[in-house]
Amino acid sequence: MGMDDCLFCSIVRGEIPADIVAEGESWLAFRDIQPQAPVHVLVIPREHVEGVGSLDAEHAALAADMLLAAAEVARIEGVAQSGYRVVTNVGERAGQSVFHLHVHVLGGRRMRWPPG
Ligand code: 5GP
Ligand code: ZN
Repeated sequence: MGMDDCLFCSIVRGEIPADIVAEGESWLAFRDIQPQAPVHVLVIPREHVEGVGSLDAEHAALAADMLLAAAEVARIEGVAQSGYRVVTNVGERAGQSVFHLHVHVLGGRRMRWPPG
């Protein structure tokens, strides 16, 4: 699965529509198509990276950008004060279904811990 047949790369290229919430030079934030909370936004790097496990030192700035973007999205969506969750699944067993790095920003309801 390379960037040519990657769903999120297609969204980055504008080939598949997405409900964009915010964007930065290195990232894009858009609503999850199957929201699991009143606020459910995905933050993805514009660059194709499979997931957290594929990051290396050269991605340090990009990795930081993802977290900063998640906090920005939370402020935009009005959940910064009420609380929200930032989560990224790594591997199929952990629930990763799209193999282009993405950070879920979930909020607007009480979150349970630990996740199932
Ligand atoms: P994962 O399961 O890999 O952690 O998260 C992938 C997320 O992408 C899922 O929550 C799923 O609902 C979402 N998703 C899958 N296909 C699309 C799509 O075409 N558009 C949008 N906006 N979200 C998608
Ligand atoms: Zn991709």
